Amino acid sequence: MHARAGLERYPDPTGRTLRQLIGGQLDVDPARIILGNGSENILELLCLALLDPEDRVVTQQPCFSLHESLPLMMGATVDKVPLNDDFSFNLRAWATAFQQPAKLLMLSTPSNPVGTALSHTELTALIAAAPPDTLLVIDEAYFEFVENGADALAILGAQPRPWIILRTFSKAYGLAGLRIGYGIASHPSLIDALHRVRTPYNVNQPAQEAAQAAWLDPQHVMRSREFVAIERQRLTAQLQAAGFRVAPSQANFLFIDTACNALEVVDELLKDGIIVKAWREAGYTGFIRVSLGLPQQNQAFFASLQRAVAALAG
Ligand SMILES: *Cc1c(COP(=O)(O)O)cnc(C)c1O
Repeated sequence: MHARAGLERYPDPTGRTLRQLIGGQLDVDPARIILGNGSENILELLCLALLDPEDRVVTQQPCFSLHESLPLMMGATVDKVPLNDDFSFNLRAWATAFQQPAKLLMLSTPSNPVGTALSHTELTALIAAAPPDTLLVIDEAYFEFVENGADALAILGAQPRPWIILRTFSKAYGLAGLRIGYGIASHPSLIDALHRVRTPYNVNQPAQEAAQAAWLDPQHVMRSREFVAIERQRLTAQLQAAGFRVAPSQANFLFIDTACNALEVVDELLKDGIIVKAWREAGYTGFIRVSLGLPQQNQAFFASLQRAVAALAG
């Protein structure tokens, strides 16, 4: 890859080489694939292209903030479907939410922030419950980390309804700073609708070339996936043994009930130089989301969390 040469030229406006690589491996027509300046760019394009103020969007609570804020920016209404108390998917609540028309479903699996992934049975049931004209936006930003989850591409591929799956090079591939993600849609017409609302050169050339190199190095992703799986299991067990409620994660982060005010926990952790995210949605204001790091970083987090909770309780 020679990203340094050629920087005087504009990038390929549709990223044909990368789309062909991805399409070839996934057995998808490259005309059904779109690149974005991060997958958040594709979320934005979907909202720009499809949403009007009278539209309704359904997502999950707790949710990835853009799944709520981007539809709200278009003036659409957003309804959020709760989880069960054990963090599992609440199919009854989804069926109720789908009794009214919905333009889009926005759902991340694995869920950000919870970390849980939909099973084959759950995704199949979700699709069956959704109105046939609702566009299913399945955000798989953490796809590469999943050990037990639905094969959304195979399940949706057999459906005669509109859908788009979003993935990214930001997480398992470690290229967040370059800003590149991709979407795989049910039909090229949906991709065309997204092309009409984007700027021509939204994905820069170094990002396209780095993503091609990353795509051709599956070993790299496999290593980070294995590493994350070990740390995830170890830290979850350690937290549970210390009495914390932890959602069963299939991503590279954990969602932890601190049983304290999460904002205060965050301030305590900051004193030890550790930055985590406090959740603000109703029902989850005691939760923090922490990204898994190196073993010594995870240990430092665990020690700091125990200190923080003891300080806040005392
Ligand atoms: C990180 C993330 C994204 C955005 O990733 P990009 O860096 O824009 O590719 C989208 N959805 C979810 C659920 C995420 O966690």
